[in-house]
Amino acid sequence: MFKIALDGPSGSGKSVMARAVAERLDFLYVDTGALYRAIGLYMFRNGIDINDAEAVSSNLSNIKLELSHSEEGQVVLLNGENVNKDIRLPEISMYASKVSAIPSVRDFLLNIQRETAKKNNVIMDGRDIGTVIFPDAQVKIFLFAKDEVRAMRRYKELVAKGIETTYEEVLSDMQKRDENDRTRAIAPAVPAEDAIMLDSSDLNIEETISTIIGIIDKKLK
Ligand code: C5P
Repeated sequence: MFKIALDGPSGSGKSVMARAVAERLDFLYVDTGALYRAIGLYMFRNGIDINDAEAVSSNLSNIKLELSHSEEGQVVLLNGENVNKDIRLPEISMYASKVSAIPSVRDFLLNIQRETAKKNNVIMDGRDIGTVIFPDAQVKIFLFAKDEVRAMRRYKELVAKGIETTYEEVLSDMQKRDENDRTRAIAPAVPAEDAIMLDSSDLNIEETISTIIGIIDKKLK
């Protein structure tokens, strides 16, 4: 199967790009951040202290996570409940980032990610896809952009969803989360050595998609 790893920080445009590329190439798009968000949501709802790695770890056995894919995209089922909407709440972002630094959480999510790529050609977006999940991916891209550009994109997205926030708050949350993700001891959000670095700061969506398709086409040949 063909695997495309699309890693990068929050707001770099990974999900928009991955969705578009998946559609054009008829690949399955897998959003791995949603899995960490679902674990974060569980801890949030159950009042579990996410700074207490042992408490988080011992609660993992109460969680059943499933991913399904249809025409409408990916659905995450947390103990049978579709949590697609709740995992996008801004407060869940930091929960996801905190739990994602706990080794048992990453182990817990390893199989579900690898299994999905056994039966499908995939484009997977995340932080450690090219480094840990699929070091053998045929294409690895690390998508990034300036902090201010990413924060503005995320801010507009949240406002469009009717979520009340400010640009400053989005920028500062994003920087805190990036710092957590980049500096954690396990699977830090850094580019794989063989990843192609793509700066989308000055590119619009269409330009970024065609650059990515161009990179993939070269590898497919
Ligand atoms: O991509 P998204 O912003 O939805 O991811 C939420 C959080 O999940 C990230 O901040 C990161 O801490 C974590 N994550 C991760 N590894 C992945 C995908 C997401 O650690 N492959």
